[in-house]
Amino acid sequence: NMSHEIRTPMNGVLGTLNLLLDSELKPEQFQLAAASKRSAASLLSLLNDILDISKVESGQLTLQHSPLELADVLADVEAALAFDANSKGIELKCPAEALPKTIYLGDSVRMRQILLNLVGNAIKFTEVGHVKVVCREVSRTEQQATLEFTVEDTGIGIAPEHQKNLFKRFTQVDSSSTRRAQGTGLGLAIVKELVTLMGGKVRLHSEPGHGTEIVFSLKLGIPTVAAQTMTNQATQSTLATQTEIPPPVQQFHGTILVVEDAPMNQMVVCKVLERLGLSSKVANNGQEALDLLAQESFDLVLMDGQMPVMDGYETTELIRSGSVPGVNPNIPVVALTAHAMVGEDKKCLNAGMNDYLTKPLDRDKLIEVLGKYLKKA
Ligand code: ATP
Ligand code: MG
Repeated sequence: NMSHEIRTPMNGVLGTLNLLLDSELKPEQFQLAAASKRSAASLLSLLNDILDISKVESGQLTLQHSPLELADVLADVEAALAFDANSKGIELKCPAEALPKTIYLGDSVRMRQILLNLVGNAIKFTEVGHVKVVCREVSRTEQQATLEFTVEDTGIGIAPEHQKNLFKRFTQVDSSSTRRAQGTGLGLAIVKELVTLMGGKVRLHSEPGHGTEIVFSLKLGIPTVAAQTMTNQATQSTLATQTEIPPPVQQFHGTILVVEDAPMNQMVVCKVLERLGLSSKVANNGQEALDLLAQESFDLVLMDGQMPVMDGYETTELIRSGSVPGVNPNIPVVALTAHAMVGEDKKCLNAGMNDYLTKPLDRDKLIEVLGKYLKKA
């Protein structure tokens, strides 16, 4: 519930700022709106950190076990942080030849999160020189491989007396109000929790003035030979589609029923749909949605999860049951929820929804999902 309550208004803020930035603004207005968006995004990332820590603590965080390639994970980390490194004149090295080429089974999102934190720290606390990431497989059994990553920098280093506590929450070497680096001291605590969840350990070697090296291990699954060839084919085909030129923004035809209780989200979603060429109507809860579906015809329903009067799951079950007079039981229903919790997607699909989207609404994902159910203009 906390996750939902915290993310919902933040999504409203980010969503409206995106719309504002997309509109015609004077240069000064654009700068101000862009600055608000940066602050809102950094607040959201802080909230996500806090929510992650509490998820791990309450045992709610479960790891994915999906095929992944380390080169992809590293490329994402590099892409996300290259700008920060470049603007400080630091060389960011993630040499592809220093990575195992195998396909593993694991949680690429959480691996990226570990590396983003460590490489982000390394860049933050380095003024000249480089930051380097390497990884090697240290051992394997039939089903599992142990990998060891090293994130090394030539930065300010950490004095021995400070090294022990840094993996505790909110601990920083310099927490004075005059400190130069930004942050709350949650990064390494999250790293430690995630690495432990993945069956590994973190070690730190550092010398003030000479730089820091953080080494962590983790265990990943090894796919069976049959699964391995299938994944190879799958990655090849995604690579093929990725190199194609991105399609222009897709325009659609149709009317969408937006079932959503928060007025801010209603506005953001309707505006985004409008820009895709779609008209929309709003229902404030599940009961209103059923009433509207019985009276008018719609091409698709975007359904929030938690709502007063009747929630999205019950509403969808009633639509699918065919027991509500005038309501088409086969209408596509796509979940649009703020719950980023484990099992939420299954809960929506079990209720009879066709697809699942999370807020903040990612426009490309929305287009991808709408493309499956709607006529293109
Ligand atoms: P946050 O990650 O929450 O934004 P943060 O970076 O300050 O804030 P941690 O990532 O937990 O928090 O790191 C804790 C502290 O450890 C940092 O404030 C810094 O003092 C020290 N530290 C971490 N990495 C390095 C590094 N590569 N070089 C020097 N000091 C570091
Ligand atoms: Mg950090």
